[in-house]
Amino acid sequence: MMTTDPTSPKSSWFWQRSLQYRLVFTYGVLFFVVLVLLMGLVARIVYTAQMSDAEHNLALQAFLAASSLEDPLSGYGSEFEAFARREADETRKEDDEHAGESSDDEDERRIEIAPQSPGAVTAPILARLDQVARTYARDTGARVTILDARGDPVVDSAFATNLFGNQWAQPEVQNALQREEMRSIRFDPVTGQRTLFVAAPIEQGATLLGFVQLARPLREISLGIWSLLLQILGIGVAAVSVATAFVYWIAHQIVRPLQTLETAALSVAAGDLDQRVPVERADEIGALGRAFNHMAQEVAQMMAQQRHFVANASHELRTPLTNIRLRSEALLGGIHDTALAQRYLSEIDSEADRLGRLATDLLDLSRLDSLSAKVEAAQAEAIDLLPQLRALAETHRLRIEQMGLTFTVDLPANLPRVRIWPDQLESILVNLLDNAAKFTPRGGEILLSAETADDCVHIRVRDTGEGIPAEDLPHIFDSFYRVDKARSPRRSHRSQSSGAGLGLSIVRTLVAQNNGRIEVSSTVGQGSAFVLRFPCSH
Ligand code: ADP
Repeated sequence: MMTTDPTSPKSSWFWQRSLQYRLVFTYGVLFFVVLVLLMGLVARIVYTAQMSDAEHNLALQAFLAASSLEDPLSGYGSEFEAFARREADETRKEDDEHAGESSDDEDERRIEIAPQSPGAVTAPILARLDQVARTYARDTGARVTILDARGDPVVDSAFATNLFGNQWAQPEVQNALQREEMRSIRFDPVTGQRTLFVAAPIEQGATLLGFVQLARPLREISLGIWSLLLQILGIGVAAVSVATAFVYWIAHQIVRPLQTLETAALSVAAGDLDQRVPVERADEIGALGRAFNHMAQEVAQMMAQQRHFVANASHELRTPLTNIRLRSEALLGGIHDTALAQRYLSEIDSEADRLGRLATDLLDLSRLDSLSAKVEAAQAEAIDLLPQLRALAETHRLRIEQMGLTFTVDLPANLPRVRIWPDQLESILVNLLDNAAKFTPRGGEILLSAETADDCVHIRVRDTGEGIPAEDLPHIFDSFYRVDKARSPRRSHRSQSSGAGLGLSIVRTLVAQNNGRIEVSSTVGQGSAFVLRFPCSH
């Protein structure tokens, strides 16, 4: 059953509660920002390029129109020239009439006007010019105005010329005079729209005949630009959508195994220790799955070991308890044989003793397994082993020799310092010496020696006892493991050991916690050797 963990983080946003949505949201926003920036850049480039293209085209068209009006062979040139001559003639007449009235500026404005051509007829010429203007307007899509040399409109492809006045002062006309860039963007008073104007001079030799002015509303140009930008935006939005969908898929691929893992972890927490997740990938998520499976396997193993341990412990506790109860019941029932009653009492005492030691060993094991014991062991100080080993040997010598065994101690003059807890080293060696004494027949020998090798201190406890069969060697450090239960240690020394198979298990734990290793070699009938290796402390 799933319960709500009060410590679980609370997120106010839905996407913070799902890794998949978080990835999609983050990348979606990122793609969108990139799209906006890119679109801004593209719009700028497209606008600039399109505008300059439109200006260039319009200028080219103006130039072509002007050229055709200049060229006598084009069919229009001579007519425009005739018109210009006639205009100039009329202007001169007006000037003569208003001699002295005209300003210097106006004189300057008429740079070089073509001479008068007698007999020219204005109306048909204007009709022809109008046709020219309309033809170019149709071809270019722009409004075409033909101006005379003073900037007055002669014909316009779209409007009556009286709707707008003299164009001399307009920047594109002035620029055309200077042969500079011939464009200007401004409001067209006739249409009321922002318009791009270009102008080109119409010349014959050094004589200025007039100008061709082309006008195109900016709206027309920008419509083209907008449609192009919309197309690019469409492609961009499609690309972002595809990319976001791809991120959604990738995120789903990441999240799916995590969800499986979560379900499996909850099942394990609920007690299903056989729960495993499929590992299909070689990446970090695959590694996580493998680590989970390994963890579940270890937990299952630990639980099995613990169950086994508890079963063994209760069995070991029950045996002496049964022995005690049987004897106490017999005693309570009334035994007249005093010797038998005495024996029962002694056996009860011995079993109680055994029970006590068993309880101590069990407590030791559980204390050693605790985290604080491991931390404490890691903080051991470096000690000089020699005085410790000598004192230990002397304490045990008498007891071993009383058992009819020879006790040889072979220690070097110097030993490097070793990081170890002295009382734990004593527990280890007492266990090993007890076992050696227990399983060595009278007349045998027990040897305690130490030496330095490969940056390690080796402490060896060897005996010439009955040895351990090869098939039992890998198990003797397991809790409650005893070699061939029928084979009992020397009965006379039985009371010195718990005999529950916990001694070597405690030894192994103590050695490991002091960063050491223990190895055993044994030959049945010849004896056993236990070697402790502790790293030297520098
Ligand atoms: P116990 O407390 O019963 O001695 P241990 O864990 O100390 O349990 O030892 C486990 C088993 O290993 C013993 O029952 C014994 O059969 C075997 N063993 C340990 N030390 C020796 C030894 N020096 N010689 C022969 N057998 C030994």
